[in-house]
Amino acid sequence: MSNFETDVASFLSLWQNHAMTNLFSVSENVAEMKGSSTLIAAQAAADLRAAGRDVIDLSVGEPDFDTPEFIKHHACDGLELGYTKYTPTAGLTQFRKSIIDFYAARFDADIAMDQIAASCGGKQALFNAACTLLNPGDDVLIPKPFWVTFPEIVTFCSSNSVFIETEETDFVLTADQVAAAITGKTKLLIINSPNNPTGRVIPPEEMQKIVEVCAARGVYVLTDECYLFFAYPPAAPFSSASLPRELREFVCVAGSFSKTYAMTGWRIGYTIANAEWTKAIVKLQSHSATHPTSFVQYACAKAMEDIEQTLDAVKTMTAEYERRRNWLIPQLNQIAGFSCAMPEGAFYAFVDVREMLGDEFAASADVADKLLTEAHIAVTDGEGFGADEFLRFSYATSTENLERAVAAMKEIFGVKPAAAT
Ligand code: PLP
Repeated sequence: MSNFETDVASFLSLWQNHAMTNLFSVSENVAEMKGSSTLIAAQAAADLRAAGRDVIDLSVGEPDFDTPEFIKHHACDGLELGYTKYTPTAGLTQFRKSIIDFYAARFDADIAMDQIAASCGGKQALFNAACTLLNPGDDVLIPKPFWVTFPEIVTFCSSNSVFIETEETDFVLTADQVAAAITGKTKLLIINSPNNPTGRVIPPEEMQKIVEVCAARGVYVLTDECYLFFAYPPAAPFSSASLPRELREFVCVAGSFSKTYAMTGWRIGYTIANAEWTKAIVKLQSHSATHPTSFVQYACAKAMEDIEQTLDAVKTMTAEYERRRNWLIPQLNQIAGFSCAMPEGAFYAFVDVREMLGDEFAASADVADKLLTEAHIAVTDGEGFGADEFLRFSYATSTENLERAVAAMKEIFGVKPAAAT
């Protein structure tokens, strides 16, 4: 054997030993993170479907509508026009300008070009914002129940999640609750309104007070506006991008095209933050995704420029979600053991199942399990949202599915006496 061959042989033997003892060790930050419970519920439904079952999936937080046709056409045009290359990391000028004009027209917001950065969906917007602000050991306030990803981002940043209980105020965060939770270690508050999983909406005046309380104590606010337009009358869409300039210094809006425009697979979103924060976001993103897909940015820009057509499409979807909500919530409240407040936004019903807990069910996960195994209805249990005694039902699905699910659940759990008469 030549020296070279000996080297190769000993390398291969070393490598094989390594592979056998599985030397890969995941980073501490990622090891600390939990998997997404919403994706786990969706996977359980997919497995059952693969086994040939007819599953009614109320677990997914994804619009059942297709992307509006005109947006698809704009994407095709973008390809034809040659939007197939890198764009600036912050996004095409046309993309950012279209968002500025859209927010000015719809929310009377005054946003500068250096305050916007395009991202690959709302999730990356949130990651970018948190990772550019947080240091190890910082405290981050997160109202409960929370969207599953928020505490995991905080963990990734080696910071600490500090939860605010909001049940007393029917899951609508108040400025008083925030004021009471802030300490010298608090760096950031993460809010989501309209909320996943509760569907609750923080009124604009309260939102302003919350930001005022934070700004006065030097605490930043990351507001996830993923469900921006899904606020049902009398609630109305509100963006913190329209707050007074001095408050906006402390705010980062995480926006997304996924839900409001039925574009989950396109992976596009954006942040609106002060110029320094945006500069840091762009720097970070220049070393990760670089930017969202170029012709997708073009399509979104064209859609935002045609504000009337875009808002019309959103209105049609919102009206349908509202119609489903109005039917579903009273129906859920007829089921024995279920109690559900009327959500003002998003497309989720958050059902309190405390009455059912005891001998048969220890937690909402057991109720979800029974629904899946006995009725092939997939819902998400509350544990991942920090609310073990609740189930989340998504009504981003057909009326037929909702009707079948309600009928099956009435059959399994029975109906309350008043509903039975
Ligand atoms: N924020 C909330 C509250 C969500 O529910 C979701 C998706 O479920 C996201 C952000 C992520 O959205 P995107 O598809 O834009 O990454």
